[in-house]
Amino acid sequence: MIIAQLPRFHLFLSPSHFNLLNHRSKPPVSLARTLFSFPPKSNLATVEPIPLPVSDSSDLEEDAPVEIPLDKLFVPPDTDISRDDLTARILKGSNIVLSKYARDAQVAQADYVKSSVRTEDCPADGLPEFALVGRSNVGKSSLLNSLVRRKRLALTSKKPGKTQCINHFRINDNWYLVDLPGYGYASAPHELKQDWNKFTKDYFLNRSTLVSVFLLVDASIPPKQIDLDYASWLGQNQVPMTMVFTKCDKRKKKKNGGKRPEENIKEFQDLIQGFFETTPPWIMTSSVTNQGRDEILLHMAQLRNYWLKH
Ligand code: GDP
Repeated sequence: MIIAQLPRFHLFLSPSHFNLLNHRSKPPVSLARTLFSFPPKSNLATVEPIPLPVSDSSDLEEDAPVEIPLDKLFVPPDTDISRDDLTARILKGSNIVLSKYARDAQVAQADYVKSSVRTEDCPADGLPEFALVGRSNVGKSSLLNSLVRRKRLALTSKKPGKTQCINHFRINDNWYLVDLPGYGYASAPHELKQDWNKFTKDYFLNRSTLVSVFLLVDASIPPKQIDLDYASWLGQNQVPMTMVFTKCDKRKKKKNGGKRPEENIKEFQDLIQGFFETTPPWIMTSSVTNQGRDEILLHMAQLRNYWLKH
């Protein structure tokens, strides 16, 4: 299956959902009601935002639930959103609705396989894969280690000579996590940065087994232009993308300019929404508390299982 044939996010939906979710601005209430066709007794029969549980904290005001309007949810294919339990099926700390494809999410085995310098050199066994990418220092290695529950697996990608490679890790012998070079490293020469862009862009556009890019963004600081550029490039090129917000445990006001991670996340979404026909999936994580770990694995499982079936 080549990437051009992969289901894009809007194609995951039935025609009526497509119409609604294809709106770049919030649809009027009556339109949303009609298109979603909620059962009359459902408390989802309005476009009231859905309160989303976030991680536990003693500070109630800081941890006020994130509210997600219905049209900002990510609804996987073959998912019945008219069911009464929609709220319960939203993954904690995300906009992602769970589908029937969310199974076999555990990581039992993780092995470093190889480092490639070109897309053509990547493993050719046809297994589905997810690529992790983000600005240097965003927490990519920490997240990778947390996903596979190994303290040092991702160190392999940090070894000299491998930081500019496509690093493949095989999971449970049936799918890959791929660690891509970090971008925007302050002291990297301009030319080298350009090379990284070309290199990873070629991978995004030509890797036929790539199910989704996982773009890591630091939620403890306000949006950075380079991350916005990266997200918008992926959106404009219709590369399937999930946004992973890292460091969501960092709440110290002085350090992050007074904004909570939830506020930085909202600002980021607002700034990129024009580049996407539908809202991409996003999820809050912390490698310190392991927030989002199981949720990311469930999301990867549902994307993977759907991809394998189609
Ligand atoms: P990479 O360069 O993207 O691979 O980032 P690393 O995983 O090496 O992390 C960069 C720095 O951020 C390290 O000091 C980590 O300890 C720290 N870090 C990574 N993830 C988190 C997180 O979830 N919360 C906090 N508070 N710090 C983190």
